[in-house]
Amino acid sequence: MQVLKFGGSSLANAICFSKVANIIHDCQKNSSVSTVVSAPQGITNSLVALIENLDSNGDQVKTLMTNIQQHFQQILEETFTNFSAINKNSTLDEFNQLIEKLDQLVQGTKLLEHCPTSTQAQILSTGEKFSVILLKAFLNSLDLNVQTIDPVNFLTTDDKSVEPIADLDKSKSRFLQAYSSPANVSLMPGFFGVKPSGEMTTLGRNGSDYSAAILAVCIEAKSCVIWTDVNGVYNADPRLVQDAQLIKKMSYHEAMELSYFGAKVLHPKTISPLSLHQIPCYIKNTHEPSQPGTLISNESSEGDTVKAISNLSNVAMINVSGPGMKGMVGMASRVFSAISLADISVIMISQSSAEYCISFCVPGNESDAALECLNEEFKLELKNELLEPISVKRNLAVITLVGDRMQQQKGIAAKFFKALSQARVNIIAIAQDSSERSISAVIRDQRTDDAVKICHQNLFLKKPTIDAFVIGCGTVGKELIAQIQKQQQWLSDKNIALNLVAIANSKHLLLNKNGINLSGNWQNLLTESKETFSLDKLNQFVSESHLNNPVIIDCTSNEDIAMQYDAFLTNGFHVVTANKKANTASFDYYHKLRAAADLKQRRFLYETNVGAGLPVIDNLQGLLRAGDELVQFEGILSGSLSYIFGELHKGLSLSQATLKAKDLGYTEPNPAEDLSGMDVARKVLVIAREAGLQLELSDIELEPVVPQELAEITDASEFLQKLPDYDSTFQLQIEKAEKNNQVLRYIAQIENQKCRVNIQAVDSNHPLYSVADGENALALNTRYYQPRPFVIRGYGAGASVTAAGLFGDLLRTLSWDQEH
Ligand code: ADP
Ligand code: ASP
Ligand code: MG
Repeated sequence: MQVLKFGGSSLANAICFSKVANIIHDCQKNSSVSTVVSAPQGITNSLVALIENLDSNGDQVKTLMTNIQQHFQQILEETFTNFSAINKNSTLDEFNQLIEKLDQLVQGTKLLEHCPTSTQAQILSTGEKFSVILLKAFLNSLDLNVQTIDPVNFLTTDDKSVEPIADLDKSKSRFLQAYSSPANVSLMPGFFGVKPSGEMTTLGRNGSDYSAAILAVCIEAKSCVIWTDVNGVYNADPRLVQDAQLIKKMSYHEAMELSYFGAKVLHPKTISPLSLHQIPCYIKNTHEPSQPGTLISNESSEGDTVKAISNLSNVAMINVSGPGMKGMVGMASRVFSAISLADISVIMISQSSAEYCISFCVPGNESDAALECLNEEFKLELKNELLEPISVKRNLAVITLVGDRMQQQKGIAAKFFKALSQARVNIIAIAQDSSERSISAVIRDQRTDDAVKICHQNLFLKKPTIDAFVIGCGTVGKELIAQIQKQQQWLSDKNIALNLVAIANSKHLLLNKNGINLSGNWQNLLTESKETFSLDKLNQFVSESHLNNPVIIDCTSNEDIAMQYDAFLTNGFHVVTANKKANTASFDYYHKLRAAADLKQRRFLYETNVGAGLPVIDNLQGLLRAGDELVQFEGILSGSLSYIFGELHKGLSLSQATLKAKDLGYTEPNPAEDLSGMDVARKVLVIAREAGLQLELSDIELEPVVPQELAEITDASEFLQKLPDYDSTFQLQIEKAEKNNQVLRYIAQIENQKCRVNIQAVDSNHPLYSVADGENALALNTRYYQPRPFVIRGYGAGASVTAAGLFGDLLRTLSWDQEH
């Protein structure tokens, strides 16, 4: 004997009914089958709306009735058109009687101006009764004789009008009396039963699962199969988490916790009777019956300690607090007796250790009733201000981790809360049951999607994700994008998901929440995009796409973008930048960025501000963290000037060397920007500030390579045309140096709390003597590095090294420990 239950999603239309009939046909070959059916999807919602509108005007009720009738008729018409073996006449007869009955019930309540709960149950059960009529016709057409079982004859609950509990013993003995020898194939409408008084009652929304479990106990079934529209129970709600994984086996306990805390796939009360009678339960997919599904039994599968994560929405939290509660015996009992008397179910409880506050969660639609009954219960205490006004927080959700193997395991709560903090989800309350099978956190409902997604990512996939937004598609930006593409395999081997979700230039913005296809024609898509870059747009995109680790990578040298970092960080983006403008803006802004990053726990990373990909900032920070101090600094910080100054001593004039550097792509489009020394000044300021000096850009003593009036020329060709005029003057400096066996170098220095950038003639003993050809070199004299400095040397410019530096920073935004 087997019980099969088909939910509304398995009975949505004629094709579904036919699939269900075929499944029953197959199953009854092996053992007799009792089938429980729900209403076709959507019908119960319409019937609920009908009841809610019974006291409104007649037209409204009429429209609702017509809609319900049409919904049924549509399924019937589809059936008669596509399945000629169905007995149309008898099916229509039974259907018309059902509709007539519904109409009578509705008219009756209109006359009475009242709809008692038993009448409500009769109205609400119309959908299930319809399913029985139609499925019976389908089964008959397959030559199966069908016995119908009416729950009114046996399925007995307690007296509660909301979410009643079945009396299993009574139901079983009544069942055996009414159906002493069940047929090979029987059909029963789910969702309702009777109270001890004989009045009809529903089992609560989604209650057909529970009906099936009760029937399974009554007929002593060898298994109960819940057929639905997914392949089984997943480790997270598959509607929220695309890559949720199917659970092959879970224990009764796990299934109970999961359904209790919101997994819609099972009604919360279903498992208890099955567990009590050791009846295995399968969850299977009506649309893919060959899939193995999930087995719920005494056994849980090996493997993950956390089995699944569930979410329960529309929850309210009630707070009872006040000085009167301290040490007062029986407070909790009074609170919960009052709530229980009002028939309100409590989802979870948390109490502060000082006994000053009891908080508990109830379903959102019961919060008003809860508040009312507590205000009544504690009328006196409230009046005497022994209690603070009882407060309700609405629009909350409970996120729960479930797993038998969580018992005695350390660190799970830590991972859970870390994941929530990473999604920047605020935890309002927490609770863990003493069996350690579930840990719950109460959060704001609107953050549920993000919370579930990131918890799933951290606890199951263990795959950290970066959602990258590249701004600026010049040489560096393009190279970075190419590196991201090139490294996809490596990233995937390391179990890291790096999705490039946005690319922007000064005119266009290309967005794709699933990651832009980098092997496709993203450059064309970007140019064709009508969107333009704005923070508002990015914010909207991040929140709609539920991105949890958004990182802005600024590959521009644009000041406007740099001045938005504060807002980026405040809005939850990490910022990775090659652009020096932010770190060299006012000290105030410099400070503000760090405060925003700290406050929002976001990373602000700018390794490429100095020495491109050379690890300057990271090393300096490392030393400072270890208590070191920068005593003196000296370095060549410009790749283009390093190249130009090298060429000067190979016999080229300043203008020739500059032109050559420009042709090789080493300079800015206008080499005046390099020769002005401003870029070096910015870099030395970044180092100085990192070392703790409160300096402004204007404090840097800067001697440009060329006279100020040349350095200020904004037009590249004009600059290159005028530069040769300065060659002969500059030549004198070169010759003088060479006469003394020295070379000219453009050097940045930090000494005595001051920064200086100028041309110096150095001899072969000087550490920067041999630094040319585009190399950078940085000598850090620190307290720890004495008497020889800590030297960092290598190419300090160029698209590939800069992009590699950005790539490194990008990976640093992965803030959780990876596990394999
Ligand atoms: P039925 O109509 O068969 O009763 P329900 O809609 O009540 O189906 O329940 C099935 C749905 O439950 C699935 O379509 C799925 O979207 C949802 N669901 C929520 N959490 C889970 C989970 N952890 N595993 C599987 N399904 C889940
Ligand atoms: N039809 C009912 C509902 O929608 C019962 C069920 O589907 O389980 O709640
Ligand atoms: Mg259901």
